[in-house]
Amino acid sequence: MTDHVASSILNLNDDLLVACVSCGLCLPHCPTYRATGEELLSPRGRIAVMRAVETEVVPIDAKVRSALDSCVMCRGCETACPSGVQFGQLMEATRSAIAVTSPPPWWLKIGLRALGYHRLVLTGSSLLGIAQRLRLAPRWLTAKLGAPRRVPFRQRPLSGLVSPQTADAFLFTGCVMDAWQRNVHRDALELMQATGAAVAVPNGGSCCGALHVHSGLTEQAKALAQQVMAACPGSAPIVVDSAGCGAALQDYGHLLGTDEAKVFSARVVDVSTWLAHRIDVLANKHANGKRGPQRETVVIQDPCHLRHVQRAHLAVRTLLAPFVDIIELDDDGRCCGAGGAYSVLQPALATAIRDAKVATIVHAAANSKLVVATGNPGCSMWLAEAGLDTEHPVSIVARHARQAGWLHA
Ligand code: SF4
Ligand code: SF4
Repeated sequence: MTDHVASSILNLNDDLLVACVSCGLCLPHCPTYRATGEELLSPRGRIAVMRAVETEVVPIDAKVRSALDSCVMCRGCETACPSGVQFGQLMEATRSAIAVTSPPPWWLKIGLRALGYHRLVLTGSSLLGIAQRLRLAPRWLTAKLGAPRRVPFRQRPLSGLVSPQTADAFLFTGCVMDAWQRNVHRDALELMQATGAAVAVPNGGSCCGALHVHSGLTEQAKALAQQVMAACPGSAPIVVDSAGCGAALQDYGHLLGTDEAKVFSARVVDVSTWLAHRIDVLANKHANGKRGPQRETVVIQDPCHLRHVQRAHLAVRTLLAPFVDIIELDDDGRCCGAGGAYSVLQPALATAIRDAKVATIVHAAANSKLVVATGNPGCSMWLAEAGLDTEHPVSIVARHARQAGWLHA
């Protein structure tokens, strides 16, 4: 590869742009192409659009916006591409360039800015939870926020934490996930502590900036990345139980382009990978639990940002194997349509993509109502909205550990 060659409209790296040879092998792996059959809504079509805009063959009109805005950024096309096209980098740079002249809607910008203020997120979430229980929160508001129908309104603090200076590992708790799924953090924390680790949470800096990157708000994402890095001093690994946040943190080296950010990114690891490296300890505790293990069967749904971006999805199998039997899907890790804020911004396409995923899961489970293991809060809530029983892999393990009596009830 040669050095970056900037152009005037989208500022795309020319080497990345010409890497696509238009073979079309990625098309069957693209959820928007499968849902619509439209070339413009495929990876190849979107790259053709980027080239046409770069060379000023077409202006950035509604058709171009539709092709680019409808991408889930699942990056399934990257896994499928034999030419190594880095589609995620192309799409992020394109959205960043377009956002300068055509920013996201005002309500999305306000919402994304609020994510950087954690007390505000927690307070707003509690108020929403109370309003839901009093039937004062309209359904459109819950849907617009991409929130679950019963947001928790009271959160117990995580316990047994140590200071960052004495930690063996950090547990990254994020923004919305800490408000809506702190129970997953608790399960992850207790399993990490059960391996003997001293665990800290970041002191400050909560939002990873992933949604800001997806929306083209690159400068806001960089500011959030700096806060997260400052909140995790030292060299201890940073364990993440949200696949989307983990992928964002692992990309800080690219986002910020500094040596410090590259070192930080190398410390980031998905919770399943971290626990899988200590699986002998967990499996041994389970085999010797007070009440004896009970097995169940679960279906694994890999979040795109774990499978196609972090490429760390196999560790989920290692983590779950001592506790449950596993059913695999046969769709090469196709997207479920959640995609960060995608289900809010593109509800019709997101629903069509989810329908296909739900059909795949129901077929694989032979119509039994099995738990669906998925390690990303967005996927979990989006699939639960469709009636599936979803659970984070660490919560499945923690549930079995509590049943067997070796983890606090
Ligand atoms: S990132 Fe996903 S939705 Fe976007 S073009 Fe690639 S496969 Fe399609
Ligand atoms: S992105 Fe890759 S797989 Fe898709 S058309 Fe281009 S070269 Fe082929």
